[in-house]
Amino acid sequence: MTRDRSSLARAREAAAPPTPGEALDAALDEYRPECRDVDLFTADVATKADRAAIALVCAGCPVFAECSDYAEAEKPRAGFWAGRFRGGRP
Ligand code: SF4
Repeated sequence: MTRDRSSLARAREAAAPPTPGEALDAALDEYRPECRDVDLFTADVATKADRAAIALVCAGCPVFAECSDYAEAEKPRAGFWAGRFRGGRP
């Protein structure tokens, strides 16, 4: 049996689980989260009340798990991801 390397590579890629980024992209293709176009999610400063409001929005988000997995894997240096500030000090 002979198979070229590219077909083996393609078969491995097809069988591999999606990366956190791919999973988040796929989820975002299906759902537009409430954080889109809301500046508060990318603010450098947020009050305690702001953070509580963000946490509430994220708690009800259908892509929370994918967002959280992505943030844990990629460690973004700014903004709120899955209800948590991931940058410096808000
Ligand atoms: S969980 Fe992620 S995608 Fe959903 S609203 Fe929060 S920051 Fe946005």
